[in-house]
Amino acid sequence: MIITKTPEEIELMRESALIVSKTLGMLAKELKPGVSTIALDRLAEEFIRDHGAVPGFLGLYDFPNSLCMSPNAQVVHGIPNQKPLEEGEIISIDCGALKNNYYGDHAYTFKVGEVSPEVDKLLEVTKASLYKGIDQFKAGNRVGDVGFAIQKYAEKHGYGVVRELVGHGIGQTMHEDPEMPNYGKRGRGKKFIEGMTVAIEPMVNLGTKDIKQLPDGWTILTSDLKPSAHFEHDVALVDGKPKLLSTFDYIHEALGIESDEEDPYRF
Ligand code: MG
Ligand code: MG
Repeated sequence: MIITKTPEEIELMRESALIVSKTLGMLAKELKPGVSTIALDRLAEEFIRDHGAVPGFLGLYDFPNSLCMSPNAQVVHGIPNQKPLEEGEIISIDCGALKNNYYGDHAYTFKVGEVSPEVDKLLEVTKASLYKGIDQFKAGNRVGDVGFAIQKYAEKHGYGVVRELVGHGIGQTMHEDPEMPNYGKRGRGKKFIEGMTVAIEPMVNLGTKDIKQLPDGWTILTSDLKPSAHFEHDVALVDGKPKLLSTFDYIHEALGIESDEEDPYRF
């Protein structure tokens, strides 16, 4: 069952999502070769708590940390550790926050220093595919329209779209109905309703779409061990249109990147 939110609830959700956005912006400044993912995890937990929220992932389904940190061939759900980041790597950081009983959930794949042109392109296309999906989150459309748009764009570039992990509704629980796959058929699936809130989150692989899991029971990685990217926004359906609850602005600002791609959907 899809749980729609009132304008007041959407405002609270925006507050939670923006705490995550700010956390990712803070991490963007700290992320450099030599820094360990566990050190970044501790910084994030402190930052989230300083903003009056609780880390959304810590303890969720018994996850041990505040951030999912998934470098290179890891797709999602990587566990922070002591290993220092290295020049030329990529790292997908997924972060959650809970405040006023509402969750924010939002992810970005960062470059550690300079990366190869091939990997750079993967990040660019995955991020663009997120917006292709958000474009379709509007009145009259269905879940399949979002998935179709993401899949079409990513596959056009020869990439693999992960099937086993999907976006989701979000609210007072992290994962609500509906599931939001990053693949699908136009006009299929549940119809979008005013006031619904979802996390749209393409996971796109440089090579095969196939994945495997490490024995830690968490880490998902590509079967061919080629790199994978993950970008996620929380979005509300307001006046029939997608409105971003989260923003990459803090990241772009920290990295000195110009971006106006979100403008049509700004609150
Ligand atoms: Mg997430
Ligand atoms: Mg999510």
